[in-house]
Amino acid sequence: MTARAVEIAGVGKSFDDTVVLTEIDLHVTPGQSVALLGPSGCGKTTLLRVVAGLERPDAGAITIGDTRMAGPGTWVPPEKRNVGMVFQDWALFPHLSVGRNVGYGLPRAERDGPRVTEALAMVGMTGLEDRMPDTLSGGQQQRVALARAIAPRPSVLLLDEPFSNLDTALRVDVRSEVHRLLVELGITSIFVTHDQEEAFVLGDRVAIMNDGILEQVGTPYEIYRDPVSPWIASFVGDVNLIDADANGLVAASPIGDLPLRGHRRGPVRVLVRPEALRLTSGDTAEVRLVEFYGHDMMVTVGAPSGELSVRVSASSVIERGDRVGVEYVGDPTVAFDRP
Ligand code: ATP
Repeated sequence: MTARAVEIAGVGKSFDDTVVLTEIDLHVTPGQSVALLGPSGCGKTTLLRVVAGLERPDAGAITIGDTRMAGPGTWVPPEKRNVGMVFQDWALFPHLSVGRNVGYGLPRAERDGPRVTEALAMVGMTGLEDRMPDTLSGGQQQRVALARAIAPRPSVLLLDEPFSNLDTALRVDVRSEVHRLLVELGITSIFVTHDQEEAFVLGDRVAIMNDGILEQVGTPYEIYRDPVSPWIASFVGDVNLIDADANGLVAASPIGDLPLRGHRRGPVRVLVRPEALRLTSGDTAEVRLVEFYGHDMMVTVGAPSGELSVRVSASSVIERGDRVGVEYVGDPTVAFDRP
């Protein structure tokens, strides 16, 4: 399987009068996994379908490897793009055996050959060729669907909300399995999700979409740490936004000075993640809510800067009504314009 790059350049798409994608630029390097993350209806699936060739872009171009697949005067149909697709329901053909399902996308001559066995081995399903789909567990069915998508040796794998129909426990297991497989196969993949955790866990890079626009692309770390807007900051994690007065690399706030990553001056709104705060033995804030998550706890306090979320160790002894202080202990952070 040769991983190829995917280049999405200036892609636009409308349905009737509704603009669904606006000038999308995204480069996926060979072997990389990119998550398209955004709220419902923001255009993620449409972008994936444009890459697959199931929709024609109105503007821009799609290139896979060295081949222009779509663009002015160019159109390569989906079956000629060497792209594997896995859909939300992973639908297997119920009347076909596992082996027949996996061989479905292969040339006729290869359907009974070693490629089917090979693809099943890649997903840890050796020897199950003759089973019927309804005799498999949900997780096994998904692995068969993945084997079917990778059997024709696609250079790119596209996955549309592949885990959304699974219950929580199975979702985490299947997600880890698929993650391991994608890493082992070294295949270029683009997948759609509206789940931030899924995007962060599976994506080497995450592309955040909103309302048909690609708002930010970066590693999960970059997006979490350096979101370009308050909307993205809160879309990818818990946030406190604290009003402060910036003076160079520091902003004065009601809970003390907050270190900034870039020089700013005047009124700003500073991004403070709950784990960047620490409760102290002070007396400036009151504990209003304690939520236990097992690995840690989230404490809501009423502080001079307004209500704040503070992540604390699960072993902290803390109760509603306690008087505490709040201190910033994180790295220099980002400041947004104050509206
Ligand atoms: P979700 O997470 O809910 O699947 P999404 O981000 O994948 O959402 P899309 O499915 O790409 O969003 O849809 C984007 C917008 O385009 C929506 O408003 C949708 O109604 C519209 N749309 C999608 N396909 C068509 C179509 N074939 N004809 C008309 N409108 C469409």
